[in-house]
Amino acid sequence: SSIPKIVILGAGYGGILTAQRLQKELNYNEADVTLVNRHDYHYITTHLHMPAAGTDSIENTRVSISKLIDEFKIDLVKSSVQEIRLHDKKVILEDGTLSYDYLIIALGGEPETFGIPGLAEHAMSIRSINSVRLIRSHIEHQFALYKNERRPQERINFVVGGAGFSGIEFVAELADRIPKLCKEYDVDPALVNIYNVEAAPSALPGFAPELVDYAMELLTRKGVTFKLGTAIQECTPHGVVLSTGEELRSNTVVWTGGIRGNRLIEAAGLETMRGRVKVDEYLRAPGHDHIYIIGDNSLVLNGERPYPPTAQMAIQQGICCAQNIVATIRGKVLRKFQYQHKGTVASLGKGQGIGVVGSKQYQGWKAAQLKKLVDLRYLFMIGGIPLVLRKGRFL
Ligand code: FAD
Repeated sequence: SSIPKIVILGAGYGGILTAQRLQKELNYNEADVTLVNRHDYHYITTHLHMPAAGTDSIENTRVSISKLIDEFKIDLVKSSVQEIRLHDKKVILEDGTLSYDYLIIALGGEPETFGIPGLAEHAMSIRSINSVRLIRSHIEHQFALYKNERRPQERINFVVGGAGFSGIEFVAELADRIPKLCKEYDVDPALVNIYNVEAAPSALPGFAPELVDYAMELLTRKGVTFKLGTAIQECTPHGVVLSTGEELRSNTVVWTGGIRGNRLIEAAGLETMRGRVKVDEYLRAPGHDHIYIIGDNSLVLNGERPYPPTAQMAIQQGICCAQNIVATIRGKVLRKFQYQHKGTVASLGKGQGIGVVGSKQYQGWKAAQLKKLVDLRYLFMIGGIPLVLRKGRFL
C-alpha cells in the first residue's frame, strides 16, 4: 500500500511517548505504526534503583505496554532488534523483518565501561527489569552464603562504581536495605561495608555544592564509604583494584559510571560519539531525513557541551519527533527541538532527597515529596488516572 510505515524501536521513555503522540495525532489510515520492544512491558528506568536494592517491588516499576497504547492503532511487536539496515530500510528482528519509511530509534543506552578491564564481565548494571532482579537476588544470596561459609568479608562488602545520579540513588537505597538484610540473616551491621567509588573529584555533577555536601553527609551517616577522585582500575571476580593501588574485595560490584549509545546504531554505520548520534535540529540522523534518534542514543548540544541523557530529555524528544513525522507526512513545516529543563530531583533513600527546580533548591523531606510528584506526573502522562491509582499509591 502507499500508506507510510512508521517503525518505533524501543518502548522506553522516548518510544512510548512517540507512540502515544502518533496515536493521538494521526488520522485513520494516514500511516501504519509499529512499536517494537524486547519485552511486553514498559519499565520506569528512573525507578529501577529501588527494586535493584530490594526497597521496592518489580511490579511497581513496570507497566504492560498494552495498557499504554491502543492496539487497534499501533502494532505491538514483542521482539529483539538484531540489526538496522539503512540501505534497504529494514529492521532485522530475532524472528522476522520489518520495513519502514520512517524509523524512530529509541533503544536506550548501554553501560559505558571506558575499557576498564573486567568491568563488562564481572560488574552488574542497573538497566532493565532483568538486570535489577539479578542484583537484588545476588545481594540476598551473598548474605545467605556468608552465614553458610566461614564468614568471608567479600560477601558483605558492596561496591558501587560511579557517584552520578543513578549511582547515588542506588547506594542510598542499598544503605536503607542493608540493616534489614542484616536483621533477616543475623549479620552484625558493623561488619558490612558499602563503598562508592568515583573517578571525578566530587559526586553528583550538576548539583550545587551545598546539595552535594548534604547528600554526602547523609549517606556517610547511613554507612556509605566514599572514595572520590579514585578510579576503578580493574574489576576481577574478587572485587576491584583502585587507582591508589588499594584492593576492595567484594563479590558485588554494581557499575553506574556511564552510559553510551546502543551498539546497533554504530553497527548500522551511523556516525556516533560514544555510540550516540548528534541529531539535527529536528532530531533526525544527519543525512537520513527519515530516521529519528531520541533518548539516550541521541546527542543534543547545550552550547558546547551535550545535555546529559535523561528521561526528561527522552520524553520531550518523543513528543517532538512524533509531531515532526506527522508534519512530514502532511507536507507541513517541522518543529525545531528545544529542550526545556524542568528541574532535577535525586532521591537519597526513604524520605530523603535533593533537588533543583528553577532557581530553588530543595533538600530532605521536601525533595523526597518532589520526587514522588515527578514520578506521579509521569504515570499520569502515560497512563492517566487509572495508572496513577494502580502504581502511584506505592511510591
Ligand atoms: P529506555 O527508557 O532505556 O528504553 C529503551 C527501551 O528499548 C527498553 O524498553 C528496552 O527494553 C528496549 N530495547 C533495548 N534494546 C532493544 C532491542 N535490541 N530490541 C528491542 N527492544 C530493545 N533520568 C531522569 O530524567 N530523571 C531521573 O530521576 C533519572 N533517574 C535514573 C535512575 C536510574 C537508576 C537510571 C539507570 C537512570 C535514570 N535516569 C533518570 C535516566 C533515564 O532513565 C534515561 O535517560 C531514559 O530511560 C532514557 O530513555 P530512552 O527512551 O532513551 O531509553
